[in-house]
Amino acid sequence: MIDKKHIIDRFTSYVTIDTESDPKSESTPSTEKQWDLANKLAEELKELGLKDVSIDKHAYVMATIPSNVPHKVPTIGFVSHFDTSPDYTGKNVNPQIVENYDGKDIILNKEKNIVLSPDYFEDLLQYKGQTLITTDGTTLLGADDKAGITEIVSAAEYLMQHPEIKHGDIRICFTPDEEIGRGAHKFDVKKFGAEWAYTMDGSQIGELEYENFNAASADIKVHGKIVHPGYAKGKMVNSMYIAQDFINSLPRFETPEHTEDRQGFFHLTQIEGKVEETNMHYIIRDHDKEHFEARKKVMLDLAAEINGQHEKEVIEIEIKDQYFNMREKVEPMMHIVAIAEEAMKSINVKPNIKPIRGGTDGSQLSYMGLPCPNIFAGGHNFHGRYEYVPVESMIKATEVIVKIAELTAKKYA
Ligand SMILES: [Zn+2]
Repeated sequence: MIDKKHIIDRFTSYVTIDTESDPKSESTPSTEKQWDLANKLAEELKELGLKDVSIDKHAYVMATIPSNVPHKVPTIGFVSHFDTSPDYTGKNVNPQIVENYDGKDIILNKEKNIVLSPDYFEDLLQYKGQTLITTDGTTLLGADDKAGITEIVSAAEYLMQHPEIKHGDIRICFTPDEEIGRGAHKFDVKKFGAEWAYTMDGSQIGELEYENFNAASADIKVHGKIVHPGYAKGKMVNSMYIAQDFINSLPRFETPEHTEDRQGFFHLTQIEGKVEETNMHYIIRDHDKEHFEARKKVMLDLAAEINGQHEKEVIEIEIKDQYFNMREKVEPMMHIVAIAEEAMKSINVKPNIKPIRGGTDGSQLSYMGLPCPNIFAGGHNFHGRYEYVPVESMIKATEVIVKIAELTAKKYA
């Protein structure tokens, strides 16, 4: 029911616009270039005939697919983000279309010998015979989350063109800056006016998630003392060695590369040092609220302990909560998960319910009064050059949106 080429063209038109977000910027959107896609999306939604199309001063794009039933149906929403991760460049994305994938290595870049191989990325084998969209090996793809945007726009288009499919008011929102943890910060939940929503921001086909990490960041500044190295005995304090002690005192195996499922971690994302000063950035993640609080305390206690070993304070630590596990907010209204599950089953997609090892716009939104489970958008290997998305998964995700709209109206008829 959804045209493949149309999906590919729409997706390509989004990923070729650079929308990398920037955690160092204080403004929203964090980068001016995100406006390019935000404005394009607002125009596109208007052209498709959606109502109440708006774009606010922070580049949040909202619109309504108006109800076509006489009875009252709860307003539901679909959300995705148009920024891409600053972890890897999103400039000059040059998507490659691999038709009828044969299950073998995909040469992303011959010159640089960059290969997307099922030997390493086994998930590829599920998509034998399908059409994959990959990078050219030099950028990320931006399927996270322009696949989600493609699906929402395509579902909106489909619903506008098929009035025989009955549904209530459907709200749409596209946000900036999700990748830097601020996708929901300026989200006007009241204006959005939905009882619940779904982020289309998951990975492989079938994913349905309503549990995510509790998340915090820790900025640590270590102070040293610089003295001429030839005359430093008893005087120099090398901040990099203190930083090293700090790092080594945290549990070495509670890191992303050693954890899975519901195991939490400390993750050192950045370190920059000189003798006089070293700055470290950590993220702290845990599904369990108590464990999460305990992790924060471990870091604070460690800083205090190291400070206690010096004459004056050498470590400054600032921990900031970023988002919380949405489970608490979704559990009281589990029918919103059930509807998504039923929608998937009705189009032969097997629901795969599991905790997210990350966050989404939805986790913050859930705490702002908009319960918001997350649904697959279809992509794999986010935030890097091996990112890819099967077009068939995008089509299924589009169909899931249409079905959810339909089922919600039926349920309340
Ligand atoms: Zn995303």
